[in-house]
Amino acid sequence: MADIKTKEFKSESRKALNNPQIQKSLVRVIDHFGEARVNAIEEITPEVWEILREKARTIKTHTMSYLDHYLDLMEANVRKNGGVMHFAKDAAEANAIVASLISAKNAKSVIKSKSMISEEMGLNHVLEEMNVDVAETDLGEYIIQLAEETPFHIIAPAMHKSKEEVAKLFVEKAGTKLYKEIPELAEASRHLLREKFQFADVGITGANFMVAETGTLVLVTNEGNGRMCTSAPKMHIALAGMEKMLPSLEDLGVFLRLLARSATGQRLTSYTTFVSGPKREHDKDGPEEFHLIVVDNGRSKMLQDVDLREALNCIRCGACLNNCPIYQNVGGHAYGWVYSGPIGAVVTPMLVGLDQSKDLPFASTLCGRCKEVCPVKINIPHMLLRLRNKSTQNEGAGDKPGVKERVFFSLWFYMVKSKFLYKTSGRIGSGAQKILRMLKLENRIPFFGRWTRSRDLPLIPTKSFRDRWKDVGTAE
Ligand code: SF4
Repeated sequence: MADIKTKEFKSESRKALNNPQIQKSLVRVIDHFGEARVNAIEEITPEVWEILREKARTIKTHTMSYLDHYLDLMEANVRKNGGVMHFAKDAAEANAIVASLISAKNAKSVIKSKSMISEEMGLNHVLEEMNVDVAETDLGEYIIQLAEETPFHIIAPAMHKSKEEVAKLFVEKAGTKLYKEIPELAEASRHLLREKFQFADVGITGANFMVAETGTLVLVTNEGNGRMCTSAPKMHIALAGMEKMLPSLEDLGVFLRLLARSATGQRLTSYTTFVSGPKREHDKDGPEEFHLIVVDNGRSKMLQDVDLREALNCIRCGACLNNCPIYQNVGGHAYGWVYSGPIGAVVTPMLVGLDQSKDLPFASTLCGRCKEVCPVKINIPHMLLRLRNKSTQNEGAGDKPGVKERVFFSLWFYMVKSKFLYKTSGRIGSGAQKILRMLKLENRIPFFGRWTRSRDLPLIPTKSFRDRWKDVGTAE
């Protein structure tokens, strides 16, 4: 599996908040995606958009309920098309299958097209240990690979880097000259990658969707590199989480309309690639071998949890990230693993363990914006609450978080039950707050210290609602 740094969420968030380049990139890119998404929805009208969302939710719920059936159907159709479907129960098994296929082919070079699941598996490390030359070919992923970082955003992995940073990286790691403009950098990467495309032994891609009725893989990209990876090398290995399944091509139409609009505000991405097995006899080009590795890696466990299985409906569009007030401020690296933002705060604890990532479900204001923008209508706030509950109940968490909260709310419970205690504590609290504010000690209040470190505690009213109500009555 990829390195897990989820325990560093708070310290990494602080670093991101104090990094001007990250803050600038977050505002620029997120504003752009947000506006593009709204315009794309306006174009087909919000009414049609809602119909599509509802359809997508129904399709996904049905597919997840009959996943075993669709996996069997997919396997049969991949076989019929001349390919081989493998099933890996975890990341280690998936890596081992890839490694054995690469070894059997005596492959020395691999080109990859963006695949979150391969990030999840930590596949690049495995291949590098086998002395295989691995090249990410999506420009953002290529930059991330040169920088030896993890993706910052689901669909824009290098969005946090300025063009100056990228130019310096190209000089240091790829030996280019120092370019100043983005088109020059894109051109340079084209030259660097062209050779890799020409001579690679194996192409590895992810999959946006699997269509069971035809055994087809679907990739949506904007750079054309995905298509090169699936067709130029002699062997194509595709990796897909088992949740990527759709029953039919007709269902796929719904998701293609939703995905591009939600992600980048496009009607469709520049390339929508359909892969149904290796090249046929009459085909001039194409891979001689096609392998699809369907990966579980914790997804079956998610499927069993009625409260959290909905997370498997995610189509990784990134809209919830762009609309989350937490992600908008701390960005993707703070989340410490492959998936970030609101959906990452749900998926990561499920896949790596709540004990490793107990801060993530709390990294939300529960404003509900993620649910509103999700094209598959995933109720993320509900799942975050469920995970918070699990965390405080110590279900799967390593220690006992929430002790302070429990003490606080027990005291609160007794206080609000007694009219006398409620009134008296209000008066004492209001007086104490004024004194602490005068002495500039307000940020030392037990329980509220973290809150008041960066903002003022709202003033506790000097008069209770009852007293104010009485005053209104007297005035009349
Ligand atoms: S949870 Fe919804 S909005 Fe977020 S990435 Fe997944 S599909 Fe997109």
